[in-house]
Amino acid sequence: MEFIDEKIQQYAETFTTQENEILKQLNRDTHAKILMPRMLSGHLQGQFLSMISCMIQPEKILEIGTYTGYSAICLAKGLKPNGILHTIDINEELETFVSEYFEKANLKNKIQYHIGNALNIISQINETFDLVFIDADKENYCNYFDLVIDKVKSGGFILADNVLWSGKVLEDKKDKDTLSIHHYNQKIMLDTRVENILLPIRDGIMIARKL
Ligand code: SAH
Ligand code: CA
Repeated sequence: MEFIDEKIQQYAETFTTQENEILKQLNRDTHAKILMPRMLSGHLQGQFLSMISCMIQPEKILEIGTYTGYSAICLAKGLKPNGILHTIDINEELETFVSEYFEKANLKNKIQYHIGNALNIISQINETFDLVFIDADKENYCNYFDLVIDKVKSGGFILADNVLWSGKVLEDKKDKDTLSIHHYNQKIMLDTRVENILLPIRDGIMIARKL
């Protein structure tokens, strides 16, 4: 399900700052060489993430689900001068590809790229975060929230991607991933430690702000 009329989507993209050369190349290269390029955030969502990052000006960011590094590069945009972005992905086959792009984007010293299962790695990262972006396996969204909430500063943000799951959250018979996403949305809604908004951008982004 597309949530936004195709022409409106195009219009929105026309009036959104274009991808820089590196992001354009990464977008093209991911589509040419990597499986499941649909997972890449892309122009509009990428610019949204950059904008959010520039608004927050975070010192520490955690991303769960690097894929080819597109969203990491976008999120790193607003980092404070000494800021660090930690990003985690379980897929070791992408390591060389992704590292090259972090290098090209001049972000080698701002991004710490962890290869492994986020369920194990999160607790090994000794930081408190201003911004977290959850975008890995959907069945663990609730677990990721539980693992990060105490590591988020008061006033910090936890974003979760794909929370509308192509509209499947509305179906009566929800499959496993859809149920996980739906439970995540319910969990955020009930958690009194955060206030939240579900933005129907692209595939849906839940923004939770820790009180
Ligand atoms: N954030 C990226 C897209 C991420 S796609 C972007 O917007 O461009 C989801 C990624 O989560 C995949 O690369 C997959 O390998 C990773 N992933 C899945 N399960 C994981 C786990 N348990 N720990 C860490 N990463 C995981
Ligand atoms: Ca995503």
